[in-house]
Amino acid sequence: MEFSNFIQSLTSEFTPVVGGNYSKEDYEYIDLSQNNRDLLKLEVASSAAFSVLIDEYLRNRSAKAAFGGYNELRTLYNRSELFNQSHSNRNIHIGLDVWVPAFTDIIAPLAGKLHSFQDNSNFGDYGPTIILEHEYEDEIFYTLYGHLSRASLENLETGMIFKKGEKIAELGNLDENGDYAPHLHFQVIKDLQGKRGDYPGVVRKEDLEDYLQNCPDPNLLLKI
Ligand SMILES: [Zn+2]
Repeated sequence: MEFSNFIQSLTSEFTPVVGGNYSKEDYEYIDLSQNNRDLLKLEVASSAAFSVLIDEYLRNRSAKAAFGGYNELRTLYNRSELFNQSHSNRNIHIGLDVWVPAFTDIIAPLAGKLHSFQDNSNFGDYGPTIILEHEYEDEIFYTLYGHLSRASLENLETGMIFKKGEKIAELGNLDENGDYAPHLHFQVIKDLQGKRGDYPGVVRKEDLEDYLQNCPDPNLLLKI
């Protein structure tokens, strides 16, 4: 079975990755590519202005959480040197972002164990990050949770077991999450390529096909 089909087969219905008892209907898709005209008007270097944009977007649609961003070309990464170090920029986002308030609970959508964690504290990076390892039907794969609160990394131990639906962390605020409006970066990863506590979530166009194979759409699992 293709890895993306396998991931899709692991859940049969909407499966939350954030707390707050949001139903599927409380979510609204948000386009953060260069096609989003509201984004073009915004000074993207300001995470506070970005928070206002997200809040207004949700209020106007009577929604409680925004989500999106898989395989999305984003210009907002131009602000950080982290993504602009070579001839070709990293600007295609390969995780799923869920925009909810800071300190919202983060929930394991599948049973797993703590593989690794790290504070990726560069400007524009993930900030505090957790990676879970999962084994289903003899297949081992990983899920990554980025932009968490710093306190979430306290008292963690590699190998800790988490049940499906159990709280694993809390979402960070913009002082600790790499300087973004609060959101979870959630990514499914087949092969971690030896990495610990970190894995690219934004990639170059030249590398995109390989990354999309290794990191299928997380919404195949969450079914928002
Ligand atoms: Zn993200």
